[in-house]
Amino acid sequence: MKKVHIFNAGPCVLPESALDAGVQALQDFRGTGMSVLEISHRTKEWDAVMDETRALWKELLNIPDTHEVVFFGGGASMGFLLVAMNFLRTRAAYLETGVWARKALKEAKGLGDAYAVASSADRTYSYIPEFTIPSDVDYFHITTNNTIYGTSIKEDLDSPVPLIADMSSDIMTRRVDVSKYAMIYGGAQKNVGTSGVSFAIVRKDLLEGRDKYIPTMLDLKTYVDNGSMFNTPPVFPIFIMNETLKWLKAQGGIDAMHALDEKKAAMLYDEIDRNSLFAGTADKKDRSIMNVCFVPSPGKEHLEAGFLEFAKAHKIVGIKGHRSVGGFRASIYNACPIESVRALVDCMREWEEINR
Ligand SMILES: *Cc1c(COP(=O)(O)O)cnc(C)c1O
Repeated sequence: MKKVHIFNAGPCVLPESALDAGVQALQDFRGTGMSVLEISHRTKEWDAVMDETRALWKELLNIPDTHEVVFFGGGASMGFLLVAMNFLRTRAAYLETGVWARKALKEAKGLGDAYAVASSADRTYSYIPEFTIPSDVDYFHITTNNTIYGTSIKEDLDSPVPLIADMSSDIMTRRVDVSKYAMIYGGAQKNVGTSGVSFAIVRKDLLEGRDKYIPTMLDLKTYVDNGSMFNTPPVFPIFIMNETLKWLKAQGGIDAMHALDEKKAAMLYDEIDRNSLFAGTADKKDRSIMNVCFVPSPGKEHLEAGFLEFAKAHKIVGIKGHRSVGGFRASIYNACPIESVRALVDCMREWEEINR
């Protein structure tokens, strides 16, 4: 067990086995006598890690042969640019469900014509707005889990145009029909590892026959054609991703993980709805099972700072809400143990007792 209960939004808590393997590999990578930080990425030992990691992605998410998974640096924020660079020809449509969605849209606007079909900005992105996917655009972009506001889109949409999704904070937390997407991407540091590496699952045929020049490192085809090793990849973050995916597989894969995620989220939301001192912020139908956002209930705002202190004394860290929304946010990604969720629920109950 960890010394503290980590609810950070990202980088987030990692499986113990991944951390242990990382420590071991820093000293001696797979019996080579070298640290994973010292080996050449052009070796069969490293090739094996890349192959294993790709294979784990394909197996866990059931990725069809039409798609390939690639790894790149620069974060999901670089992904915003990759999307527009690779898929925007004349016009693109976005669903504006938060700050990350807005930042994605900004990159497309910088490179061409792009707009938001709907927005939930009017109520601080606390819900997923109604929308219709236009049929006259190059692609439609969504953010499936809105990390800052605790909302999510829980189904794979039927789209008349290529569908692109930022799944930074909910990848590997539910079964996804990959064939419905032109591209799925995100940073690793929420559910599949730590920061420094990002992933994209792309439909390969869409990368053929493009006529404009795309800078080499922004061209997804460069990554597909070179097994994500056109240049030196982020070796250590990929190693941690590999170990995190192995852990996920050992837990029973995505379906088992999804069931546990649902259970953890229900524990917290039940307590928020029951406890007289707290109120949830997201519309119930749109509640995320990854980021649980809540505030002091009306009239109890003066208890906000106190609860953070109280939680800290109970070894609970990372529950302060994003600076743009305030309140509290508990990020309960795959690797967050159910014991940590129980500890937070107990802490909320105790806080209510004390403040009666
Ligand atoms: C964290 C996050 C990002 C930004 O990720 P970086 O890797 O820091 O660029 C983008 N989108 C979503 C949904 C996120 O949760």
